[in-house]
Amino acid sequence: LSTTNESGAMSKNAERTYIMVKPDGVQRGLVGNIISRFEKRGYQLCGLKMRTASRELLEEHYGDLKSKPFFPGLVNFMMSGPVVSMVWQGKDVVKQGRSMLGETDPLKSKPGSIRGDFCIDMGKNVCHGSDSVDTANEEIKMWFKDDEVMDYKLTAYKDIYE
Ligand code: GDP
Ligand code: MG
Repeated sequence: LSTTNESGAMSKNAERTYIMVKPDGVQRGLVGNIISRFEKRGYQLCGLKMRTASRELLEEHYGDLKSKPFFPGLVNFMMSGPVVSMVWQGKDVVKQGRSMLGETDPLKSKPGSIRGDFCIDMGKNVCHGSDSVDTANEEIKMWFKDDEVMDYKLTAYKDIYE
């Protein structure tokens, strides 16, 4: 993860998170807007792909929610169409990504957040974001092959970080 970064300070800015536009977000044409928010913030896009996920992958991805009553509906919904999977990199990106998403419940999400701006119901909350650095690393492994995640130098790095 820190192989392209020379100093310790830079590798701290190489945290990664897994962000996914859900089938409702894709259908509603929100892919560009969601990508744009991360780009404009200064985060670096390291992986991007579209696919319709298998039940197996989704049951692994949402494994911690297996016992919840909404789990079968959630998995079926997530399989209902293509999702857009992304890896974003930068300082504190896991926590900041969650904050950019808003709350799980869109009705509790502030205007200005993705969920606060674009949706209403919990089961149609348009976007996923990893909830911790460990989860992020697991999710990136689940959704991307190693060679699908890019290591490259961001030339704007010096204009983003002090
Ligand atoms: P997240 O990390 O904010 O996405 O929330 P969770 O990991 O707790 O739940 C995963 C996803 O399951 C959420 O994004 C919702 O789409 C869905 N979900 C969570 N709680 C509920 C619920 O109470 N009802 C329904 N219908 N969906 C839920
Ligand atoms: Mg979650």
